[in-house]
Amino acid sequence: MNKINVTSSSMPPFDEYLEKIKPLWETRWLTNCGSLHNLLETNLEKYLDINNVVLMNNGHMALYSAIKSLNLTGEVITTPFTFISTTNAIVQNGLTPVFCDIDPQTCTIDPKEIEKLITEKTSAIVAVHVYGNVCDVEAIERIAEKYNLKVIYDSAHAFGIKYKGKTIANFGDISMMSFHATKVFHTIEGGAVLFKNSELKKKIQSLRNFGFISQEEANVDGMNCKMNEFQAAMGLCNLKYIEDEIQKRKRVVERYQDKLKDVNGITCWEKQQDVTSNYIYFPIFIDKEKYGLNRDELALILEQNGIVARKYFYPITSNFECYKKYKLNTPIAEKISQNVLTLPLYSDLSFDNVDRICDIIIKGGDYND
Ligand SMILES: *Cc1c(COP(=O)(O)O)cnc(C)c1O
Repeated sequence: MNKINVTSSSMPPFDEYLEKIKPLWETRWLTNCGSLHNLLETNLEKYLDINNVVLMNNGHMALYSAIKSLNLTGEVITTPFTFISTTNAIVQNGLTPVFCDIDPQTCTIDPKEIEKLITEKTSAIVAVHVYGNVCDVEAIERIAEKYNLKVIYDSAHAFGIKYKGKTIANFGDISMMSFHATKVFHTIEGGAVLFKNSELKKKIQSLRNFGFISQEEANVDGMNCKMNEFQAAMGLCNLKYIEDEIQKRKRVVERYQDKLKDVNGITCWEKQQDVTSNYIYFPIFIDKEKYGLNRDELALILEQNGIVARKYFYPITSNFECYKKYKLNTPIAEKISQNVLTLPLYSDLSFDNVDRICDIIIKGGDYND
């Protein structure tokens, strides 16, 4: 029985990576804004169509720095249906997360619920483009303008996504992306802060380098979140193949959708209107009344057959012990996190393997290998 993992990192041809890192044995400049790092920033500014990209050593530090750069205070309205990093970055900045429920169609923060949670202390909205589904950016912008709030997008899932022809980084005051090995585009570990307002640039650059603005001056308590040259080299190589990567993932997703479309009690992820997707995850939503098994039972059957699917996102972040004190009633997020399962998805996942996974899902409890 071959084991199928939930993901498998894309890798550029080995020789191309070697070629990229070879000059480092001459220059001996391995980090601190080396030439590969700077080239990757420029190439990403072009590819993502945004005038400022500041690379970081991972997505979490990018999100932490993005939030920190805006000098926020008090409360931040956010979603509990996300990776723990989003909530961590808010709390680590001394802010109080106020958990808002999500839209059941997109699993992103529900703008209709946001307004009810606004108080005098609210300073920002931290929203997440979950599974690459685009948040209701227009409604969020209207609310932010009305109440004078900052908008930060956790776009960790949203590399290369466009909404109505505009790349996703153009929405909100600032956003971040993750270039972790499991994401569509990666630098092994890595991330970036993206923004239109160039006045933020110096501050974000100093935040990633201990707060230094020159060798003898620091004006903010910065961290160390610099991307090194080996990471940047991986990014430069992967960027060359990104379109191909996304197209291959699209074919896998379409195969799943085709095979699973008539299974009673299983709802598949679908691409939103007006969105150019990157096919980063393929979640299915299980209605146990109709399907006969609940999510955990299906995950177990898959696991017994060597298939790793993930309960992504479960639990919601407001159910983690460290965040229970902020818990609010978010019934939709709660319910979806009980019923969702993301299936294996990567560019070279074979149709044979997709078919085997679908066969197990179709037969459910009756499956016998
Ligand atoms: C991956 C991820 C992060 C963190 O990014 P890292 O690069 O792993 O630090 C943050 N938010 C979301 C939604 C993510 O999926």
